[in-house]
Amino acid sequence: MIEEQKGIAEAENILEDLGFDLLPIKPFEVVDAISSGDFKVVMEKHNFSSEKILGKAQGNENAALIYLNENIPDPGRLNFTAGHEIGHVCMHIMPRKKMLFECGSKELYNPFDDPIERQANGFASGLLMPERLISDLTDGDINWENIGRISLECGSSREAAFRRSLLLTNEPFALIIHENGNFRRFVASDNFDFYIQKSPLSHDQKALLVDIDMNPYPSDFDELDASDWVNPNFRDSTLESLYVSSILLDRGFSYSLLTYDEDCFSNEYEE
Ligand SMILES: [Zn+2]
Repeated sequence: MIEEQKGIAEAENILEDLGFDLLPIKPFEVVDAISSGDFKVVMEKHNFSSEKILGKAQGNENAALIYLNENIPDPGRLNFTAGHEIGHVCMHIMPRKKMLFECGSKELYNPFDDPIERQANGFASGLLMPERLISDLTDGDINWENIGRISLECGSSREAAFRRSLLLTNEPFALIIHENGNFRRFVASDNFDFYIQKSPLSHDQKALLVDIDMNPYPSDFDELDASDWVNPNFRDSTLESLYVSSILLDRGFSYSLLTYDEDCFSNEYEE
């Protein structure tokens, strides 16, 4: 997570220098504040011919231009894409490390070991959700109530709010995303040691979904059998149970938060 942390630190410093003190941070206002006579920055929505490009940043020694795909349907994802491209301008184009970026879902959501893309994602995260401004929003625990509040106040997606929260805790957490009950993808902290099952949601797992159209975000977790969600064996330890909290969103998506602590392990190997 070191590259993300560099991006977060850069964004948080810029916000502080520019005097941004109130949530939500609006990326278009940040661009206006960054842009100057010495280095002009312009950001616009654009109708890309390819749906694969979500955001593009291009620059030279005097100016940078950012295009955001106008077909991004979710305002949280549009904000994140804007933050990511502003990150490329501040961290890569202005220092002349690289002058052209065309970013799709791989760069924005699955950059693996591409340090430049990970820095831009960290930048987006720190820009929309600076620690200084989000620390007062919640008690710091990771649960749906807190993720929902950060997402709402910051104009970021729930997934982005979860990723930001992960960088402020040492506890193991994973977020598993299903669409109509079928596994789509997951995001996990580096210290989440157990291999996540990529299986469809069972009848029992579906029954535990909290529909947040009709209910407030839950703050509690159910203690469930670990083997229903993960391979419970890792090295010499066996996980018996997991704490799980699942919500049902629109368009058939469901998000499940998983975590565990020392009470979740079997005693088999203890003396
Ligand atoms: Zn990028």
